[in-house]
Amino acid sequence: MTKMLNTQICHTQKTEEILEALEVNSQGLTSEEAEKRLEHFGLNRLPEAAKRGPIMRFLMQFNSILIYVLLGAAAITAFLDHWIDSAVILAVVIVNAVIGFIQEGKAEEAMDAIRNMLAPHANVMRDGQRQSIEGDRLVPGDVVLLEAGDKVPADLRLLQANTMQVQEAILTGESVPVEKDIAPVRQDAALGDRACMAFSGTIVTSGQARGVVTGTGAETEIGKISGMLSKVETLVTPLVKQTNRFAEYLTIFILTVSGLILLSGWYFQTMPFTELFMAVVGLSVAAIPEGLPAVLTITLAVGVQAMAERNAIIRRLPAIETLGSVSVICTDKTGTLTRNEMMVASVLTAGGVMQVDGEGYAPQGTISSDGDVAQLHDLALAAALCNDAAIREEDGQWRIEGDPMEAALLSFAGKTGLDWEQEQHQRERRDILPFDSTTRYMATLNTGSGDHQACIFVKGAPERILGMCTEQRDANGENVPIDPDYWQEQAEHIASQGQRLLAFALKPVGADHRGLQLSDIEQGLILLGMTGMIDPPRPEAVAAIADCYHAGIAVKMITGDHAGTAAAIGKQIGLKNADRVLTGADLDAMDDIALTDAILETDIFARTSPEHKLRLVMALQSHGLSVAMTGDGVNDAPALKRADAGIAMGQKGSEATKEAADLVLADDNFASIAAAVREGRTVYDNIKKVIAWTLPTNGGEAMTVLLALMLGLMLPITPVQILWINLVTAVTLGIALAFEPTEERTMLRPPRAKDEPLLSGELLWGILVVSLVFLAGVFGIYKYAILQGYSIGVARTMAMNTLVVMEIFHLFFVRNLYGTSITWDAMKGTKVIWLAITIVTLGQFAVTYLPFLQKIFQTEDVPFDYGVLIVAIGVASFILIEIEKQVRLRFFRQKEMDKNAAITG
Ligand code: ATP
Repeated sequence: MTKMLNTQICHTQKTEEILEALEVNSQGLTSEEAEKRLEHFGLNRLPEAAKRGPIMRFLMQFNSILIYVLLGAAAITAFLDHWIDSAVILAVVIVNAVIGFIQEGKAEEAMDAIRNMLAPHANVMRDGQRQSIEGDRLVPGDVVLLEAGDKVPADLRLLQANTMQVQEAILTGESVPVEKDIAPVRQDAALGDRACMAFSGTIVTSGQARGVVTGTGAETEIGKISGMLSKVETLVTPLVKQTNRFAEYLTIFILTVSGLILLSGWYFQTMPFTELFMAVVGLSVAAIPEGLPAVLTITLAVGVQAMAERNAIIRRLPAIETLGSVSVICTDKTGTLTRNEMMVASVLTAGGVMQVDGEGYAPQGTISSDGDVAQLHDLALAAALCNDAAIREEDGQWRIEGDPMEAALLSFAGKTGLDWEQEQHQRERRDILPFDSTTRYMATLNTGSGDHQACIFVKGAPERILGMCTEQRDANGENVPIDPDYWQEQAEHIASQGQRLLAFALKPVGADHRGLQLSDIEQGLILLGMTGMIDPPRPEAVAAIADCYHAGIAVKMITGDHAGTAAAIGKQIGLKNADRVLTGADLDAMDDIALTDAILETDIFARTSPEHKLRLVMALQSHGLSVAMTGDGVNDAPALKRADAGIAMGQKGSEATKEAADLVLADDNFASIAAAVREGRTVYDNIKKVIAWTLPTNGGEAMTVLLALMLGLMLPITPVQILWINLVTAVTLGIALAFEPTEERTMLRPPRAKDEPLLSGELLWGILVVSLVFLAGVFGIYKYAILQGYSIGVARTMAMNTLVVMEIFHLFFVRNLYGTSITWDAMKGTKVIWLAITIVTLGQFAVTYLPFLQKIFQTEDVPFDYGVLIVAIGVASFILIEIEKQVRLRFFRQKEMDKNAAITG
């Protein structure tokens, strides 16, 4: 098997010619043949974007202003013959680069793994049956089914197209969707004019089609364009950027201050120049948080993974932060709050209501009927023919392909005794108007069995279908004028039980009727009856909604369903204002101001179209709320883009929606949104903790050096000692914070304000307080040791150890930003915390007592009783800052509770 056809001319050939060249018929390949072709043609994947090589990635670790400063310091200390200092600085720079390199590699791996979780699927015909397969297993000759919202999985020659439009911006730059057709076009037609082709990577915006794969992987048009391949995303978010920029400004500021001190010291001759210079180097390395960027990257990577474990897959990194601030979640109903496991539970005909029972999708069950089940024949026929789903038995289980609601209809048809497969076979489908969430119906034109008339079958939302019908089928099988009041009243009753309603109608047409036009179905239909489907709420969604309320987050249900059904389900899942429903029609009658007024008190929006979602997002945002919006259909994309956090359904959602989303839910489950918000809050808190923990060390060190300089004293800690603390101990302990679990009260706090700065007044205040405590501890013990007659070397070693011990105690303090740190749970810590502490403690002992390290770090043995004193200082510092926090929290918590009460009402 070589190349099967000349891809340059597929658009000029007739469909039969293409099928012949690809050795396939319109029913698709067999699995065996597909397997063979897969071996021959390879996976349908675009060539990978060239990644930065390991050497480049390692070198990039040095590309930061913080590292430049260190390298500069190393060069100058070497120049001043302080070889040990410069060697230590260089060693630290290299260790830092290695840590960064390894962590970045891990973070990239994590992101790649997550990207693979989003691998698209394709609907194909294999062995004569519709199947969903992984998009990369497509081969030339596969027959692919496309519908609105799909991303075209390979280059296709269309065999059938119904009102099909495709957005081809990725290839042609043209953002207006183009209409597709099956007629061949001229050979020299530009890509954008090849209407009979659908190209890989483009998006179907409406309609349905069937096409045969002509090219896969690198052989597709998109594969041929090099340079358009997927970009490698780096791990930064606005907050991290903001923090990194802050660190850079801080560096520049510190360098300026250091320069000025150096100049004035040199001018006034307060100290020998070399000593002064070493002090200034000490100040610079002390004040710059060298390890911070690496720790922040790790915090984000841990957050992304934690969310993925909870089935929330981040597509755009900033969403991690936004999720933590979400104050309203707007969610779909079907599949998100409910299970999307449908079953027809009642059938309404002109004769009355019948109950249906059964298990899952098995087409067996009983229908309670006083009259005759035979009267359901045409209704079941409509349900089976106006249907794109498939059900089949595998290992005793009934499995479905396609829309669960349509699958439930097949099972219902089976329960009435209809042989749906045979009917589908005999009454060939000539044309279709696909379901669209704006029109809310679907219609097919089928041939009659034998030489009978052809027939149009329509199914859809009852209000829609009623408006198209002039007659109804009565209990005796006669067509009589329609009685809309009867149907409406009965439909309301079924909906009020939380059942999803669907109406069915038909219209006989001439045997030679071909294309299906809107005018064919707008009037003159015969109403056959309605079905009511149950779709039980997900129990975990009910719990998640309660969690959201506790967390000060409002929940709005936005559904295409009937108002009665929506209200009933709303009540079952515990929505607050379940009695108040606004429908799409109500929304259309309201202007933006009226909507903005009504929106806070309304939690259920029914019979909405995707455009309403956009208006709802904007109305909520006008209240300053941070909005998360879910979506599945292609038309939901604008609302998802506009929302602060756009969330797409991983299973039910179209590729178009996933592309527009910030977050994809692998399990379509509302509970995963709540979990993602919780993780979002955790990541934000952890970023805050990392900063709140790291900066006081730098602050304390810088103040110590400055104070010593101002008082004309020797430095209580030398530059190399400072570097050891900043890079080795601070990074080890700081990374532990990246793995911090969620704080207990996290989902009991109201959401943070959308525009709350990370470095808030409260945080800066905390940093200042702790820096001062550190200053007092370090300076205090240094002075005390000198007064006790110890050498400068011993005093410095004590000062350095005191700082590290205070850092460890501060770690326990910072783990509970919003509550007390003096509880057993808080003291117990986590495995990661204790591991980090063990490593740092061993490191401290080594630096303090091992002779060769003593030489490098200019340390000396510390007597045992002073070791105890150092730990006591740590405890004292902890108690001091904890008292300050308690006082502050008492004051703030009251404000927080007031705010929470205001939001959740
Ligand atoms: P939710 O927003 O709760 O997920 P939904 O997205 O399922 O609801 P739509 O899919 O827009 O809502 O469906 C709205 C209505 O359209 C349904 O209540 C039903 O009456 C009708 N409908 C849904 N799917 C089909 C279909 N495949 N064929 C015909 N009518 C349909």
